[in-house]
Amino acid sequence: MTQVTDPQVTEHGGGVWSIKVPIPDNPLGFTLVHLLDTDAGPVLVDTGWDDPTSWDALATGLAACGTSPDAVHGVVITHHHPDHHGLSAKVREASGAWIAMHEADASVVRRTRSGPPARWFDYMVEKLTAAGAPADHLGPLIAARDAGRAPRLPGMAAALPDRDITPGELLELPGRRLRAIWTPGHTPGHVCLHLEEEHPARLPGHGRLFSGDHLLPGITPHIGLYEDPDDETVTDPLGDYIDSLERIGRLGVAEVLPAHQYAFTDAPARVREILAHHEERLTDLLALLAEPLTPWQLAEQMEWNRPWAEIRYGSRNIAVSEAEAHVRRLVKLGRAEAVGNDPVRYRAV
Ligand SMILES: [Zn+2]
Ligand SMILES: [Zn+2]
Repeated sequence: MTQVTDPQVTEHGGGVWSIKVPIPDNPLGFTLVHLLDTDAGPVLVDTGWDDPTSWDALATGLAACGTSPDAVHGVVITHHHPDHHGLSAKVREASGAWIAMHEADASVVRRTRSGPPARWFDYMVEKLTAAGAPADHLGPLIAARDAGRAPRLPGMAAALPDRDITPGELLELPGRRLRAIWTPGHTPGHVCLHLEEEHPARLPGHGRLFSGDHLLPGITPHIGLYEDPDDETVTDPLGDYIDSLERIGRLGVAEVLPAHQYAFTDAPARVREILAHHEERLTDLLALLAEPLTPWQLAEQMEWNRPWAEIRYGSRNIAVSEAEAHVRRLVKLGRAEAVGNDPVRYRAV
């Protein structure tokens, strides 16, 4: 592969490149799709958002690295979100590449593709009602369900993966050592990928980490509920996230190659910052829960990047899910308890 001059492409050395693939109308800006050279051909870590401009950016970026979409040997997906898995179907169509994903996220993909539309609306109405959402918020969902409308969710046509990613095992990549590390939290089947090879610039530490959305240099990933209508298990995604973040901090990698923003070193310092951020957030929530609140009321009072009144409809659903994830954690830690019914409120203990 040749010397790269495309400003959207960064050569990280040792047969690793990143390509900025834009996410239209999204403040995140772009996904960093990583290209890993193997003896069997180029392998991608994530693919980017499914949009013609994103596809063009991916193809142009691959060309700048001296390859093309039809030459891709395999696709490793960190998690099922559409800014990571969106273009996988197109890459497979162009190249016949395999697509690998952790089973917990593969089952989200299967569910999203096959679920009847009313199922999703029913689930959202039920869940938001239980969280204490007001009638004016529920109205549009109920109207859409009763009109038999199909939800417009990204991922309805996402590719079904054809390989499992087994936690703790090396992926079958000829000539490379890439180990999967299961890091649930942001999604139930999120994985980080540890490239267990010496750093090309000999930076101190143990290899490099493709961290997906799990560990990012300047932002923290959304941690909500896992949203599985068929699963009655009371999961604790924030607890999962904190555990898997500590795990990643202990790896001692030389450099982190995240799926957004930019590559960085000193993963343990960033892990400590994020852990402190969540600890602070939990402490703030406990103060709010001095009086019993529904998750909706809690979300209204929590601090977001803008006032609640300016948070749009869809983002409010995400905010409530995040509030619930934090309440779950507090309940699991024995620092909060549920009181009453219809809807349940929570208070600090
Ligand atoms: Zn994500
Ligand atoms: Zn992402």
